[in-house]
Amino acid sequence: MDTVKEKAYQEELAKARAELEMLYDIGNAMRTTLNLEEILYVILTAATSHTGLSFNRAMLFLVNEKDNRLEGKMGIGPDSAEDASMIWTYIEKNKIGLEELIGIETQFDHLKKSRLNQTVKSIKIPIKEDSGIIALTALDGMPFTINTPEAKQKMNNEFSKLLDLDEFVTVPLKAKDKVIGVLLADNRFNKKPITNDAVRILTMFANQAGLAIENSRLYEQTVVLSNSDSLTSLWNHGYFQYLLSEEIKRCSLVKSYFTLLMIDIDNFKIFNDTHGHQAGDSILKEISRLFRDVSRKIDIVARYGGEEFGIILPMTKKEEALILSERIRKAVETAANLKNITVSIGVASFPEDWSKEENLIAKADKALYEAKKLGKNRICT
Ligand code: GH3
Ligand code: MG
Ligand code: MG
Repeated sequence: MDTVKEKAYQEELAKARAELEMLYDIGNAMRTTLNLEEILYVILTAATSHTGLSFNRAMLFLVNEKDNRLEGKMGIGPDSAEDASMIWTYIEKNKIGLEELIGIETQFDHLKKSRLNQTVKSIKIPIKEDSGIIALTALDGMPFTINTPEAKQKMNNEFSKLLDLDEFVTVPLKAKDKVIGVLLADNRFNKKPITNDAVRILTMFANQAGLAIENSRLYEQTVVLSNSDSLTSLWNHGYFQYLLSEEIKRCSLVKSYFTLLMIDIDNFKIFNDTHGHQAGDSILKEISRLFRDVSRKIDIVARYGGEEFGIILPMTKKEEALILSERIRKAVETAANLKNITVSIGVASFPEDWSKEENLIAKADKALYEAKKLGKNRICT
């Protein structure tokens, strides 16, 4: 081999090795967490970091199968050219590597303020032929590089305006053979042309990223399933206890408060004896749905045992909780699909009803017992 060829060969080899090493590093970083937010953050940091793929900006969209659309989840990159030069000078000067960039937890705070991130998160793109290149990437399952004037012209639509796109590349994120999302990257600020090499590496990277996202989703589903009650889909007894202890810890630490409701169906044995256990089971399902409907998103609703339920109301004082309890009691009493079912509710609040000797559940249970003794279909504290 002559020396020129030899040199080119060696360079090629060194480049391939560097690429492999980088992909390996990114893979390792993705394996450090199963949390979806964190995975997305690692992916986008890797796509934009100087020691990673070094794009100026990267944005990630995930497929929502139910609504057949792509939803923007996260965008990383400076909001403006001034921002960009400031961030890059800082990174260069301080020689911040990929690992450290990912390790910086405060980045999450930065992310909350990022205009790009907010814009990306507001975007929902129907997956069909005529909604632009991001949708096409998901439909066709292949990468696109938009770098000619004709392509830019053709691809200009509301989403490219929102994201201030000019020259960019999109790659599908795949798990096995299914497209689960789209990664978009560009060099908006230094205007570096997007080379075939860059697209090739981004595609390899996207395959890793797709699998990591799928793994974390499967994991999160498993966690939800193993902590849920199979009949009602509410949180089960064990997880309820865990969430309650966490809430107590949190509130002790930051001097916050919450209220616990224990709810028991009245005369349920008689209902079962009269209508049968299956009819009883559908009542449990229906009443669970009602509890979820009347409670807020932040409330924790659980099936504590047979026909007993626990609801944790974060940031709620007793007076407020009493109003909500009355709404629940009334809703059950008047619900057409709940026959003549009624409930009794015991209420206890943190911190005033809590002590090391008597836990909150015992306190709420006592109140519940009182409600039963006083004639049921009522609320006691
Ligand atoms: P009280 O008003 O005092 O609460 O009377 P009760 O009959 O509701 O109370 P008790 O705790 O004595 O009985 C609970 C009954 O709930 C026993 C059982 O028939 C019924 N039950 C518990 N778990 C289930 C379940 O998963 N499915 C059905 N169908 N019934 C259940
Ligand atoms: Mg009971
Ligand atoms: Mg009962």
